[in-house]
Amino acid sequence: MKSGVIGFPRMGRNRELKFLLEKYFKGEVVGDEISKASKKLRSDHWNLQSNQGIDYISSNDFSYYDGMLDTIVLLNAIPSQYRELGLDELGTYFAMARGYQEKQGDVRALAMKKWFNTNYHYMVPELDDDMAISLLSKKPIEEYQEAKKLGIETKPVVIGGFTFLKLARYLGKKKAEDFVDEVADVYLSLLNEMNQIGVKWAQFDEPILVTDLSEKDIALFKRLYERILNNKSNVKVLLQTYFGDLRDCYDEVMELPFNGVGIDFIEGKKSLELLKKSGFPSDRLLFSGIISGKNIWKSNYSNVNRLILEIRKVTSNIVIQPSCSLLHVPFTLDSEFDMKDEVKQYFSFATEKLKELQELSIILESNDCRAFAEYTNNQKLFQVKRLYEDEEVRQQIENLTEEDFKRNTKRIEREGIQKEIFSLPILPTTTIGSFPQTAEVKANRSKYRKGEIDKNTYDNNIKSFIKDCIKLQEDIGLDVLVHGEYERNDMVEFFGENLKGYVFTENGWVQSYGTRCVKPPIIFGDIRREKPITVEYSTYAQSLTNKPVKGMLTGPVTILNWSFPREDITLRAMALQIGIAIQEEVNELEAAGIQIIQIDEAALKEKLPIRKQEWYSEYLDFAIPAFRLCHSKVQPETQIHTHMCYSEFEEIIKEIDNLDADVISFEASRSKLSIIQALKDNNFETEVGPGVYDIHSPRVPSVEEIVDALKVMLTKIDKNKLWVNPDCGLKTRGLPETVESLKNLVKATKIVRNNL
Ligand code: GLN
Ligand code: ZN
Repeated sequence: MKSGVIGFPRMGRNRELKFLLEKYFKGEVVGDEISKASKKLRSDHWNLQSNQGIDYISSNDFSYYDGMLDTIVLLNAIPSQYRELGLDELGTYFAMARGYQEKQGDVRALAMKKWFNTNYHYMVPELDDDMAISLLSKKPIEEYQEAKKLGIETKPVVIGGFTFLKLARYLGKKKAEDFVDEVADVYLSLLNEMNQIGVKWAQFDEPILVTDLSEKDIALFKRLYERILNNKSNVKVLLQTYFGDLRDCYDEVMELPFNGVGIDFIEGKKSLELLKKSGFPSDRLLFSGIISGKNIWKSNYSNVNRLILEIRKVTSNIVIQPSCSLLHVPFTLDSEFDMKDEVKQYFSFATEKLKELQELSIILESNDCRAFAEYTNNQKLFQVKRLYEDEEVRQQIENLTEEDFKRNTKRIEREGIQKEIFSLPILPTTTIGSFPQTAEVKANRSKYRKGEIDKNTYDNNIKSFIKDCIKLQEDIGLDVLVHGEYERNDMVEFFGENLKGYVFTENGWVQSYGTRCVKPPIIFGDIRREKPITVEYSTYAQSLTNKPVKGMLTGPVTILNWSFPREDITLRAMALQIGIAIQEEVNELEAAGIQIIQIDEAALKEKLPIRKQEWYSEYLDFAIPAFRLCHSKVQPETQIHTHMCYSEFEEIIKEIDNLDADVISFEASRSKLSIIQALKDNNFETEVGPGVYDIHSPRVPSVEEIVDALKVMLTKIDKNKLWVNPDCGLKTRGLPETVESLKNLVKATKIVRNNL
């Protein structure tokens, strides 16, 4: 049986691309060096796949920053403010990605959003009426040829026009339907160019097809592809979907003359049902996503076998592949030196998934799987019980009652009580938690990990960072302080490390956005808090100042969403287990005199099911209670904050209010403050701090800019409910730009306060 790969991680085994790009941003290397090193990475990755016998390997899945940004360039949809900077190709590209603030001008980066239900972020295309869409970039062609030279036939992959148009933002009067023909023509030209150099297959990724679609959407999709597929090239077109099923458009997809369709049978709950009900055209290939591209557990070969038997009842033209691009899992288990074999044997990262595909492609051909050692070995894993169950924790969850999810004083009353105790100025200023992770901060952690310094020295260093951070915040004039999060590599991994039931990787990095990678911990067994996690640092920070310092925790839903979850118990069970652990920490912080506790739910929105139908039943019904569980036992005087990244939560605004937090801060500046109106329309009760500037870029916001943002906010938000803060944590920023930005934030707030 043939096998395929939708996309492969780009960063490299040791995140080579990240480090190189970061040097480039600092001006330490030139563009040529990036291009040379990238070529090497691509060739390594192709060879790896080819050596594992993968038949359909992708090219152009590589990117310097993001595939959507590449598509913007491909279509010549570069907004004028970036062109006008007059930078070279690479300069323009990175100006869109990161903003630009040097000799040639001052422009913000394009907006960035989460890619469907993943923690990967894409750059949002902005289409303006006068844009002349045309084929600009040769990247797909060049990367195909590059692989060809290595003797590897690949399928160039691009993000499809429908997904592009649906995810784009329209600045002028023209809408998707006004661009559709031009966009189709670019893909047509691309196919023609591919044809000329002998490309056999092209892959168009259209994940948007697994979302809820209207009739109008489907008409747009058809119009686009009728035009694209009406061509004379010999290039076969694979329409690739992932992250769900095609329940709204299965028939329409099948009616179009694609040569291959990629369907996700892992996350696509209805995929098999649709296939069986509506059939599959006999003249095309079914690229079947039959092992998870997103999770790191080894596949259970007997489940895969059963699935394939079902698929075969409908078609035998099957290519097996992961459910989505392998971008969302780490590179290889080979880089895990400390992980115990007993644990490791359960996992499969990108490279190991290639091996799974190779094994499965042989096993699945046969009538008797059991004849293969690979199969029986795989089955052994699933036949023994893993010894990571915690009866007591399970009992605790069983015993939860409604009272465990409720604070006993109403928010309105709490607001009054808290205003009195804290007597903060109007428009209180604060930050989201982390301060820049300077070289010193990182060195402290890595020295400790390598055993070069002892725990005492490590702790003392952290305390000295905290001390400087408190002093800095007092000097800047912020009202509610933070300890700076110097003990954390990452907001989830840190908590994982302090909870029983988790295992960690040393090098399990996954790209989050641009050069930023995260290292999700793995939930291996039942979760239990065995010791205090943040209490010491928080109380130390509070001891240094009279201003309130926020205790800083990550919430259960975010911990869950940014971990690799188990596949043998429900998400709900995991969320509640973590919820109980965080509740214990909250209670202990309160007992230690911390009066404001922030429980970050940065990723709450991220795993909202793609289908509206499933929002409650599959997610919100446990996610909201899991958060409420964390703070249900605190006194009315204790102020609970939460923070969410990416504010596009208009659709679940009531549920967010229903978290019953006292204050919420969220990312807003990069999404153009669109949420503000929704807050008003919904009589949002929780006090809010919509971010006044974007922290994902090194750009320093001016005082005027922040004043303007606050003025806009005040048109919709009650001044007694508004907080002033940046978009998100400052850990990825440099110290100088951070200080300058925060000073501007405080200055701007004072100006606005004085004019109230
Ligand atoms: N408290 C965290 C920080 O400031 C929140 C990070 C996040 O939202 N991603 O780093
Ligand atoms: Zn955030």
